[in-house]
Amino acid sequence: MFTELSEKLEATFARLRGRGVLTDADIKDGLREVRRVLLEADVSFQLTGEFLARVEKRAVGVTQLKSVSPAQQLVKIVYDELTLMLGERKEGLKLSSVPPTVVLMVGLQGSGKTTTSAKLARKLKAEGKATRLVAADVYRPAAIDQLETLGRDLQVPVYADRGTQDVVKIAKAGIEQGKKERDRVVIIDTAGRTQIDDEMMQELRRVKEAVQPDEILLVADGMTGQDAVRIAQGFNDAIGVTGVILTKMDGDARGGAALSIYGVTKKPIKYIGVGEKPDALEEFHPDRMAGRILQQGDVLTLVEKAQGAFDADEAKRMEKKIKKEGMDLQDFLSAMKQMEKLGSMQNILKMLPGVNSKVLAQASKVDPKRMKHLEAIVLSMTAQERKKPELLNGSRRARVAKGSGRPVSEVNRLLEQFREMQKMMKRMAVKR
Ligand code: GDP
Repeated sequence: MFTELSEKLEATFARLRGRGVLTDADIKDGLREVRRVLLEADVSFQLTGEFLARVEKRAVGVTQLKSVSPAQQLVKIVYDELTLMLGERKEGLKLSSVPPTVVLMVGLQGSGKTTTSAKLARKLKAEGKATRLVAADVYRPAAIDQLETLGRDLQVPVYADRGTQDVVKIAKAGIEQGKKERDRVVIIDTAGRTQIDDEMMQELRRVKEAVQPDEILLVADGMTGQDAVRIAQGFNDAIGVTGVILTKMDGDARGGAALSIYGVTKKPIKYIGVGEKPDALEEFHPDRMAGRILQQGDVLTLVEKAQGAFDADEAKRMEKKIKKEGMDLQDFLSAMKQMEKLGSMQNILKMLPGVNSKVLAQASKVDPKRMKHLEAIVLSMTAQERKKPELLNGSRRARVAKGSGRPVSEVNRLLEQFREMQKMMKRMAVKR
C-alpha cells in the first residue's frame, strides 16, 4: 500500500537531509518534489495545492534545533498535514443507543460491497456484537448466494427473501428480524450498478427513508484513484453518506483516493479493505497511515521530543539574556511565540521565572491570527529597532505598519504591551 508514494517521498527527504542547513530555496525545491509525488499518486490539483500551502506556511523559518535537522522537521510538518488530509482522527462505527444499529452499505458493482459487508459483520461479531446481514442486492441473484455463503462460513445470520424485488420490504423485514433476535448491528447489502444512475439513487433514498440507517457506508474501490473520489462525492451528494470504506488497498493503489476522499467529501474513511479474505478489513487511523506513508517513525518521535526541549532551552537562554541586557522586541516575540506553542500559562511561568503573571495572562489572550500579525509587525522592524524600540518614532512606526500590512494603532499597541512587560521585568529583576 502506498509503496510508490512512500518511496518517492523518502527519496525527496533524503535529498533534503543531505543538505544540512536548508535555505528557503531548498525548502521550495523539496516542496515542489512533494507536489509532484502527490499529483503522481493521483491526488487532485486543488487538494495538492492546499496541502502544500499549509506545509509551506509552517515550513518557513524551520531552523536548526539541538538534535534535529530542518529536513527532519519538514518530515514532521508533512506528517502532521498528511494526517489532517487523511481525516485527522480515527472514526469508528457509530453504534445507536437502541439496538440494532442499522448500517446501509452502498457503492458501485464490483467495488467490493458484498465482500466488505461480510468482513464488517465478522469484525463486529468478533467484538462481541451480534450482527445480521441483509441481502438487499436483488438484481444480481448471485449476490444473495454470495452473501449467504459468506454468512455461513462466518456463522453470521443472513436475511434474504427471494420472493420479492422490493428492497424496502426486504430491508425492513431484515431489521425486524434483527430486533427479534436482539442483534446489535444489522448490515444491509444494497444493489450497486456499474455506474451512478438516478434509479439506483432513488431506490437508495427510499430505503434510507424507510429504515433511517445509523450509518450509510460507501464502499469504493481504492485502486481507482480519482474515480473513487468522484463516486464518493456522487453518492454523498445524492443520499448523504456517513463514512467511506476503501477496498483493495492491498493492491498497488497509488493512494490518491485515500488522500483525497476526506478533503473532497469531508466524510471520514472508517475502514480499509486489504485483501480478499474475510479478515482483511482494518480500521483506518489517519495518523498511523500518515506514518506508514512517510516510513519515518523514528524521525517523528525525535522531532516531537526536540520540539519539547527547544522551548526549555530557548526559555533559559532568554532568561539569561534578559537578566544581563534587558528585554528587547525580539525576546518579546519569542516569548509570545512560545506562549502560542505551549498554550498553557503554567508551562510558561515555569520557564520564565520573574515574569508577572498578569502581563502574561493578558498577552496569552492573543489568538493565532493576532500572533501572526504581531510577528509580521516585529519582522518589519530593522534589527536595530527591535533592539531599541525607543528608536521607533512616528515615521518609523508608519513604515513598520505599512511593511506588515497592519494599522499603526496595532503597532502602537504592541509597543505599549512590550513596554509594560519590560517594566514588569525590571521590577522583578530588582526584587530578586
Ligand atoms: P460488489 O459487487 O461490490 O458486491 O463486489 P464484491 O464484494 O463481489 O467484490 C468484487 C471483487 O473484489 C471480489 O473478487 C472480491 O474478492 C474483491 N475484493 C473486495 N475487497 C477486496 C480487497 O480489499 N482486496 C482485494 N484484493 N480484493 C477485494
